[in-house]
Formats: sequence, C-alpha cells, structure tokens
Amino acid sequence: PLILGIETSCDETGVGIVRGQTLLSNVIASSMEEHARYGGVVPEVAARAHLEAITPTIEAALAEAGVGFDDLDGIAVTAGPGLAGALMVGVGAAKALALSRELPLYAVNHLVGHVGADVLREDDTELELPTVALLVSGGHTSLLLVRDLVDDVELLGETIDDAAGEAFDKVARLLGLPYPGGPHIDRIAAQGDPGAIRFPRGLSLPKDMAAHRYDFSFSGLKTAVARWVEQCRAEGREVPVADVAASFREAVADVLVTKAINACRDLGVPRLLLGGGVVANARVRELARERADAAGVALRIPPLSLCTDNGAMIAALGAQLVMAGRAPSELGFGADSTLPVTSVQV
Ligand code: ATP
Ligand code: MG
Ligand code: FE
Repeated sequence: PLILGIETSCDETGVGIVRGQTLLSNVIASSMEEHARYGGVVPEVAARAHLEAITPTIEAALAEAGVGFDDLDGIAVTAGPGLAGALMVGVGAAKALALSRELPLYAVNHLVGHVGADVLREDDTELELPTVALLVSGGHTSLLLVRDLVDDVELLGETIDDAAGEAFDKVARLLGLPYPGGPHIDRIAAQGDPGAIRFPRGLSLPKDMAAHRYDFSFSGLKTAVARWVEQCRAEGREVPVADVAASFREAVADVLVTKAINACRDLGVPRLLLGGGVVANARVRELARERADAAGVALRIPPLSLCTDNGAMIAALGAQLVMAGRAPSELGFGADSTLPVTSVQV
C-alpha cells in the first residue's frame, strides 16, 4: 500500500511516503533553531511552527515521491505520545486530508513508529522478532519488548525523570555549549578521558535494580556533573571540559547499553534495535556494538535519518497495519500526549 505518514509529536514536522516497506520520500522541517535560545523545546513555539510547516511539508513529500493524493491508499499520523499542542496539528491535518480525499486514516504510536522505521532499511535484511528496542531521544528513554509490530509491544522500562537527550542538552548548557548540546558533547568528548571522573550510573545500584531493573534516571547524573563543575570553578581551577564531557558521555552510554543488554539476556531475546536521536552518539554506538557482540546479540541501528523523528517511520507503521488487515481508526480519536506503547493504533 502507498501510505503518507505525518509526524508532529515534538519539534520536527515530518512527512514521509512509503510503498509497503519501500521508502519513497522523507521530508522534515525542524523548529529546533527557534528553541535554541530557550535551551529546550518550547511547546507553544513548536505547535506554531508545525502549523506553518505542515502544508508545504506534505506537498514536498508528495513531489519528492512523484505521487499525488489520488495515488494514496491511506494516511498515517502520530496520535501520541508527545507534546499535546504539537500532536494536534498533525492529527488535525491528517483528519482533514482523510475526510476531503476519502482516504482511510491510521492513528499510530510514535514510539512504535521508531521501531517501524527499521523495515525501511535498504539492505534487505528483515527485522526479526521478538526484539528488544532501546529508544533514546530528547523526549524519551524507553526500553521495549516488541513481539509483533502491530499488536504486541511491551514497555520494559523508561526514564523516571530526564530523557537521555535532555541530559545531554542540560549538561551541554552548564558547560556553555549551544543547544542542542548532544552533538557538541559528543565531539568534545572525543578529546577527553572517559575515566577521568566517575559519574553515577542512575538506578544501577543493587537496591534500585529490584524495582527499576529496566528504568533509567539521568537527573542525578546531571546534578553530579553540575556539582563537580561548580566545585572546580569555586576552587578557581579551569574546568577540564573534554574530560567532563567524556566522563559524562561514558556514564550515559554505559547505563543505556548495560540495561538494554541485560534485558536481552534476561528475556532470552538475542536481538537489540536502537532508535531516537541519541543513537547518533559515537560512544553509545561503539559500546552497544562491543557489548552486543560479546553477548551474542544481533544489533540493528537504522540509518540516522530514520532514527530521529520523521514521517516515513509513521507511514511505515501505517503500511504494516494495512498489510495486517487492520481497520482504519475512527475519526473521533484525539491526540494523546501520554499514549502507552501497548496502543500501537488508536
Ligand atoms: P522525541 O523525543 O519526540 O523523539 P526529540 O526531538 O527530542 O523528539 P530527536 O530529534 O530524535 O528527539 O533527538 C534529539 C536529541 O538527540 C537531542 O536531545 C540531542 O541533543 C540528542 N542528540 C543528537 N545527537 C547526539 C549525539 N551525537 N550525542 C548525544 N545526543 C545527541
Ligand atoms: Mg527533534
Ligand atoms: Fe521520537
């Protein structure tokens, strides 16, 4: 089926078109720069930017794919989770298109969309299930068990405070680096010593592992970095920025990868899929590769353009629903900012 997917859950207005498991176009307009001076995504600013970008982005995606509205077999849209006002723009646009063009509409889950992105890979290797999936971005840090893409996704754990990308952005800010800070920390960390400072690995102590085996916490780490830097400044010493960045990056990568590989081992699922913008991190990728190899876990990392938020992954999940024979969503649904992963479709 030829499906157009719309994604507006955070700061990317993404529209993509797929035919089954083949990517035809993937157009993204980001309002990231507008959020830079606030040091994080501002919901109202994001919603307004989506409103301005949505129509041109839909037109660009159709043009790039070389198809028209009449060729489409359906529309897919992110219904949640995400920022309510941002989600509403995509949902409103999708309903309007579905009604005016008489197309079936599939309202889907953003996080499961990140997993669905994998079917668009060009290397012709199929996504094998079940798989553990680690999704890490500015808004999410979630560990999932995916038994079936369209109707069997389980949440193993998630962050109890900041998302990993958010921690990168906050630590970057306190080191005086611009937003979004993840790429800057990653670059500077390459020059530092990851063993210079031992920062805490959140929820990894034996007492935490009982109740929070697959959950994450990054706010304590952020505070530890802030204290360390303050102390340095108070003593009049120059802050060793590269060492701080490398040690912080190591702590994040270590805890992400350890928990993901633990899940693979505990559940006897020798497959791990990564998704989300933090997957761009060089150390996260390297450590995941090392530990997956050591544990006999097959690691899948989709190309980065499919890891960050995009419309193609939503279209891909919509196409999976169509191919599984699912009925379209009833048009009465609304945006759900806290939609659970167990709801693949609403
Ligand atoms: P959502 O949470 O809804 O998926 P998002 O816009 O927060 O949306 P992405 O666009 O997938 O998420 O990712 C952006 C985040 O990824 C930012 O927090 C950014 O700092 C982080 N990031 C990007 N590159 C790197 C990197 N090389 N190392 C660490 N973090 C990175
Ligand atoms: Mg983003
Ligand atoms: Fe996302």
